[in-house]
Amino acid sequence: MSAGRHNYSFYKGFHSDNALDFSKRSSFDRDVMLERVYPRRLILPMRQHYGDECVPVVKPGETVTIGQCIGAPAPGTMAVPVHSGISGTVTDIRPIVLPDDTTCKAVFIEGDRKRTFHPSVRPRNNVNVSAATVMGIIRDAGIVGMGGEGIPTIVKLNRAKRFKVKELLVNCLQSEPYADSDYLMICEYADHVIMGAVAMAGACGVRIINILISKDRKNEITALRSAMERTFSKYSGYAFNLIYLKPRFPQGYYRMVARALYGVNLDEGEGLEGRCRAVMFNCSTVYACWNAIAESMPLCTRTVSISTEDGLLRNVIAPIGTPVSELFDTVNGISTTSKTIVWGNCFTGIQIDNPDVTPIIKTTSGVCLITKIQDATAPCIGCGRCADVCPVGLEPDKLYRLINEGHESAAVKFNAGRCINCSACSYICPSNINVGHAVGMFAAAKRKKSSFPYTAVGDRQWVDDISLLSADTVKAAEKKIQKSDSLTLPFEGWESE
Ligand code: SF4
Ligand code: SF4
Repeated sequence: MSAGRHNYSFYKGFHSDNALDFSKRSSFDRDVMLERVYPRRLILPMRQHYGDECVPVVKPGETVTIGQCIGAPAPGTMAVPVHSGISGTVTDIRPIVLPDDTTCKAVFIEGDRKRTFHPSVRPRNNVNVSAATVMGIIRDAGIVGMGGEGIPTIVKLNRAKRFKVKELLVNCLQSEPYADSDYLMICEYADHVIMGAVAMAGACGVRIINILISKDRKNEITALRSAMERTFSKYSGYAFNLIYLKPRFPQGYYRMVARALYGVNLDEGEGLEGRCRAVMFNCSTVYACWNAIAESMPLCTRTVSISTEDGLLRNVIAPIGTPVSELFDTVNGISTTSKTIVWGNCFTGIQIDNPDVTPIIKTTSGVCLITKIQDATAPCIGCGRCADVCPVGLEPDKLYRLINEGHESAAVKFNAGRCINCSACSYICPSNINVGHAVGMFAAAKRKKSSFPYTAVGDRQWVDDISLLSADTVKAAEKKIQKSDSLTLPFEGWESE
């Protein structure tokens, strides 16, 4: 294991603890341990990730158990399975609209409070598994990137193999002001994160594992370092590095990481894999992979930060599909009156009106309550502060003006499509202009028509490989899983296919 490397960063952005006076993190009560939430019901959308909707494989009236597959990819689609995080009865299947305007079918489940696990969920006696088996487990567990766009993890692993990447990066760089879920998860499950990283590195034939973390995260660094030391002796074929980055927002975004680590400005449509020969996974994703390998537990729960700007912060492990209102119910004395409810974290999240019908999904790392967002209080004064913080070097005020005046081609010419929708410009604007929203929406609309990594032909070919599940084959696959509680090839010296 090498000594840590220090002080990497992109340029611009800002350090949230300095910038946000409502977010003096030291005043937050840190949980001593993660608490589990057992909701009364779940709303499980069939699309919670980047890609296509999957197909419900249960019917209303059917009973389901924890870890049971309730939605499977149709052949030839870029989808991943969806599993139930509670036991109970399916009450309805109907289309819903998520806050990000995704429309898809959702399976509604009423819990029975029995917490019955599906027979396929049980610890594997032997976790020495082959690369191919790891890929299969991750695919069938429905794991997607849990820190951002929700790209299916199997797609990224396959892409990493295709580009013959040299480094696997574990992203422990959660940088939004209220977000804390990854950090507490690291403190409690650092060994699992490291083991998951080794498994994923083996699966895509990589020997260098770099853990990226902000240098001010002392407890998490200690936890990771100890876990790496324990793991290092077992897997000497892998090089582990801790890489310390300057605490800045939005440090964890893949383009910022490319800039900070490799000095590269990724173009639209470029990913880390092709340009930097590296593949990056969020630490919660890595943990989920290990949970699937060691416990045969598919991705049906996640860590979520529940926060308010009054300094209340609680991290819970909640079944995916839990309505946001049920998460707030777990916090004594919390009131949503006169507050804006944000689905996601406070900068990059989306305002919602009805938390009863809005579930957390695989990519939701937080929900928060903030003071009602005010409309613009003054016209743009040309102060340039938005450009000072824009992490991708845009001039948000200029783009805002061009978009509002209908000069779309000029906005494209000035690189509006590069906007990563981080909202730093909106936060910093003294006139309360929601610059980021306007530019971000424009960029998202343009991106749909152009390129994005993971939509290339090669990725589609890999996707075809993963879209093997039909309603019938799900049941057959589950039976097969029940029969095999141990798998044989050794971790070390994993074959690379
Ligand atoms: S929202 Fe877009 S324009 Fe605004 S700071 Fe972030 S990247 Fe720049
Ligand atoms: S920060 Fe606001 S007021 Fe200042 S230039 Fe940008 S949009 Fe205009």
